[in-house]
Amino acid sequence: MVRCPKCNEEIGYLIERREAETRCRLLLDERGDSHRLYREQIYDSFPVTEYQCPRCRHVTCSDECVAIALLQGKEIVPVVDSW
Ligand SMILES: [Zn+2]
Repeated sequence: MVRCPKCNEEIGYLIERREAETRCRLLLDERGDSHRLYREQIYDSFPVTEYQCPRCRHVTCSDECVAIALLQGKEIVPVVDSW
């Protein structure tokens, strides 16, 4: 099991946050109430924005290769909080 470089808790996965585009149809029914019919979600054309620790939500990295290395227990350069 690997540990988060920020909170040091054991983690078995990372949360991958990715921007996505959702397209849908906005329709009105016979009573005039609006409904959305979701047709497709497009993920591949949007870059992964960040990988977060599931415990403390710290952004560990923004690169998939680095995220995999972290989950493999390898040493990574930690992301410095910019705030
Ligand atoms: Zn953490």
